[in-house]
Amino acid sequence: MAIKVLKNATLLDCTGCEPKENAYVVVDDDKIKEVGTGKAASSLYGPMTESIDCKGHFLMPGLIDAHIHLSLFDNDFGEQHRRSHPAMHYVKALGVLKDTLEQGFTTVRDAGGADAGFRVAVEEGLVPGPRITVCGRVLTQTGGHADPRLSTELTEPAQSPFSAVVADGVTEVTKAAREQLRQGADHLKVIAGGGCASPADEPDATQYSFEEIHAIVKEGRAANKDVLAHCYSNASIRLAAEAGVYSIEHGNYLDAPTAQFLKTKDCWLVPTLTTYFFMAENGKELGIPGYFLRKMKQVLDHALEAVKNAVDSGVKIGSGSDVIGSGQRHKNRELELKSRVMGPMDAILSATRENAKMLRKEKNIGTVEVGKDADLIILSDNPLDNVSVFSDRNNILAIVQRGEFYKKLL
Ligand SMILES: [Zn+2]
Repeated sequence: MAIKVLKNATLLDCTGCEPKENAYVVVDDDKIKEVGTGKAASSLYGPMTESIDCKGHFLMPGLIDAHIHLSLFDNDFGEQHRRSHPAMHYVKALGVLKDTLEQGFTTVRDAGGADAGFRVAVEEGLVPGPRITVCGRVLTQTGGHADPRLSTELTEPAQSPFSAVVADGVTEVTKAAREQLRQGADHLKVIAGGGCASPADEPDATQYSFEEIHAIVKEGRAANKDVLAHCYSNASIRLAAEAGVYSIEHGNYLDAPTAQFLKTKDCWLVPTLTTYFFMAENGKELGIPGYFLRKMKQVLDHALEAVKNAVDSGVKIGSGSDVIGSGQRHKNRELELKSRVMGPMDAILSATRENAKMLRKEKNIGTVEVGKDADLIILSDNPLDNVSVFSDRNNILAIVQRGEFYKKLL
């Protein structure tokens, strides 16, 4: 593979440093070989070298979204298993995967639904998409957030290629966790509280007992896998953190004392602001069921305050979008929304350096440094001055994935 020299760029390396003018990055095969300012050493230029002039543009690491759902492609996703044949589930999820890369995300963490086949398909180059880690099916209690049944239904939960496992008690959750691990899960996801998309619970509910969550954490730890917990209320956040989960997902009701508690537990928080804003603005026209929209608006009211409480207590903050259906195309809006509380630099770092740490991939991705994988994006505008630059994919002039251009408008 030829050497690439990306030169004359303004480099935001996402180590926490201010941007560097007139910078160059040398990519050799799939790795970053050199980073500097001024002229790249001429010894690096050979007959096979590709030189790309990035003058006036901004070079940074590829973005990371730590809370996506490839499998939730319909706006009213509770009905998608009735509308799509099983094969269509995979076809549509692959469309979401490709589109996510085109938004500038070179790595994602699926937070429920996608199986290990998606990870393998990307690794083997069979389909375009970001590198992906998966948890397979999420674990939920009877009547939990991921139990899809209406309270009027007396049937068994409907099954689709991506549906949750309804499991109760230590024995059942242990088996369900082991089953996800057997099938190649990179992490586990437990529903530890009520949610918005679910027809039969409320976001302030706690779900699963300490013993059940702890049993899932135990299985995760035994296999060296992290456990994510879906939570909104302070009670559910405390229960999950006490039981040893690795990251709290959403956490919209997080108050200051609970934020301090999370800090003492060294637990990550992954706020997912985009999905609430998108649904509040567009949900009605998109035909979202009334209960879903009502609860989305309810938790939206607290979403930014929760992020502020986490920032004030020094909680480690990752970045995720959690978008579904038509929202899938707007994952990178998360940076602008988070910047309203954290400022643009920290919002960008949460979706790069911090997410890489949370995924335990900081040796390979998240910053532009020598030796790391060459996952890069080139932007038309300075994201520190205009963090909305990410929201329009036309502003992403180039996407480099493992050293190869996926997109190149330069
Ligand atoms: Zn989610």
